[in-house]
Amino acid sequence: MVTSLITGGAGFLGSHLCQRLLDEGHKVICFDNLLTGQKSNIYSNLENPKFQFIEGNVTEFVDISDDVDYLLHFASPASPKDYRDNPIHTLKVGSIGTHNVLGLARAKKAKVLLASTSEIYGDPLESPQKESYWGNVNPVGPRSVYDEAKRFSESIAMAYHREHGIDVRIARIFNCYGPRMRPDDGRAVPNFFIQALKGEPITIYGKGLQTRSFCYVSDLVEALFKLLVLPEEKMSNLYKRIFNIGATEEVSVLTLAEMIKSQVGSLSDIKFHDLPEDDPMVRKPDITRAQELLDWSPEIDLKKGIEFSVDWFDRYKA
Ligand code: UDP
Repeated sequence: MVTSLITGGAGFLGSHLCQRLLDEGHKVICFDNLLTGQKSNIYSNLENPKFQFIEGNVTEFVDISDDVDYLLHFASPASPKDYRDNPIHTLKVGSIGTHNVLGLARAKKAKVLLASTSEIYGDPLESPQKESYWGNVNPVGPRSVYDEAKRFSESIAMAYHREHGIDVRIARIFNCYGPRMRPDDGRAVPNFFIQALKGEPITIYGKGLQTRSFCYVSDLVEALFKLLVLPEEKMSNLYKRIFNIGATEEVSVLTLAEMIKSQVGSLSDIKFHDLPEDDPMVRKPDITRAQELLDWSPEIDLKKGIEFSVDWFDRYKA
């Protein structure tokens, strides 16, 4: 039987991945310290004999007795609010945690799927962003704890590939949304849903003209699975191990707010606030590589995805 270990497996993306891998017949070991992950995301799997939950911290030595075929490293605070609230832990999980995961992969001869991020491009000076773009990151700003930790993660993963031949694949994940997002994680999609559902003012940072490309979670998980099982020979050169994964439908934050308001039928006002330091002005992936090598493109447009997400956020409006 194929065994997959997912760090951050109780988080938003991690828990969807646990489910997907169980559906594929894998044995799944979910490893999470529950800092931003939630046990409620994995309750439905706890009785499954093919599922194991380990509460632990990847920044400490990770000791697993089972054989492991795939190691998916998804542990990390991922919303700007969460990494601003946990700056040192975010740096540790991306650095020490990634080192531990790669050491475990080496011991187990496992393939590694590393969750990286569009944040490694910082406030990009070119758009859309291709995998070959090196980014524009402030190394000491409030977002640097996440950006630089993920840049280090990519660097050490590639070093383990070069030096030890570890089969690593790197997913640069762009904005993603859908069920299981924490209503209080501070990101635009949950904030706007909860505010619209409660009839409270919608908090727009800056003028709301900054853009993002939002991918519905099921599309994203599909791409991640395809990348996990992509035959190694398809990644002909070193840098073909890196894939942008995200939606290409680019909208301003203001447009996102209007779309959510309209879906909910909300009369909320829009209220403008200061733009947080280093908030990127544009973000849109070039996904040509994922389209060609993974035969993948997002299928659910933003309007549909917002419609699919209402029920999830509606339960938190009280
Ligand atoms: N944003 C906003 N109001 C909010 C939350 C976020 O205007 O209540 C903006 C934020 O400044 C950013 C964009 O929405 O420009 C997306 O923010 P999010 O936190 O979702 O993710 P990011 O892309 O910044 O990682």
